[in-house]
Amino acid sequence: LEEEYETLKDLPCETLDGQRLSLFVNTGLSADIARSLDRGAEGIGLYRTEVPFMVRDRFPTEAEQVVIYRQQLEGFAPSPVTVRTLDIGGDKALPYFPINEANPFLGWRGIRVTLDHLEIFMAQIRAMIKASSGLYNLKIMLPMISNVAEVEEALALIRRGYAEVKEEGFDVKMPQVGVMIEIPAAVYQVKELAELVDFLSVGSNDLTQYLLAVDRNNPRVADLYNSFHPSVLRALLSIVDQVRDEGVGLSVCGEMAGDPMGAILLMAMGYDVLSMSSTSLPKVKAVIRNISMQQAQAMLNEVMTLSHAEAVTQTMTRLMREAN
Ligand code: PEP
Ligand code: MG
Repeated sequence: LEEEYETLKDLPCETLDGQRLSLFVNTGLSADIARSLDRGAEGIGLYRTEVPFMVRDRFPTEAEQVVIYRQQLEGFAPSPVTVRTLDIGGDKALPYFPINEANPFLGWRGIRVTLDHLEIFMAQIRAMIKASSGLYNLKIMLPMISNVAEVEEALALIRRGYAEVKEEGFDVKMPQVGVMIEIPAAVYQVKELAELVDFLSVGSNDLTQYLLAVDRNNPRVADLYNSFHPSVLRALLSIVDQVRDEGVGLSVCGEMAGDPMGAILLMAMGYDVLSMSSTSLPKVKAVIRNISMQQAQAMLNEVMTLSHAEAVTQTMTRLMREAN
């Protein structure tokens, strides 16, 4: 299988009837860069900056962050690198920045923390932009967006950070800015959000958690956590339908994109950029190269009529077997 994957690396991610998809990778550590390039990733769809923050015992300085981000940006240049601002809170704690709350997933998380701590936000933004000097492949992504005001505020800060860095003499361009669609409220305002930003990336992990009211890490309710729940599928389809003609970039960067069944359904819905862990990439590419868009759309049409998550996965298993 490893051998097959080796030849897959340089083959395009394309369906049997010529539908082209972009497979991006989710990263966190610098070690992720080499293995992602090795598996043919076309860019970074999600660089989780909380990872380098979590492995330290204090906040990295702006200068330290420049070095860390530069590795990712340089490693993939000229391909795009989507750097997400700090998404701490919820399940992701920094040992040197304790947050104690009864409902951490509904509390101070992601953009909410950084907009309350502008020194953290601005150091990150300035470091990202400095790190992109001469490369111009930076995209900035905002996590846990639940309303338009957060995006407006963050955009103003990003523009200010860009102006500062440029003023300081760095050879930089204004990065593209995007938001994660991972809170149900964002699904219902996806058009307004799309008007403000360059791209949207669906976080199917949190979207599933918040749509189903199921803690993504609680083993007691793990049976209920299912991205193939018909309501999740409808939300995902509704997002594409709402922004299809808006000219906004659209991708999925949750675990679902790295699941062969999930990838096929997302592609059939109209998502053409999928970002996943490097381990999932060859498997997803192999599956997509073995199916036609027409077949995938027929599968989607069939599963969208089903009312149980289990029926969706069973039906997909059968349809995928029959297709081969
Ligand atoms: C998601 O929520 O789907 C996502 C990609 O972000 P994270 O898993 O880091 O919350
Ligand atoms: Mg998330």
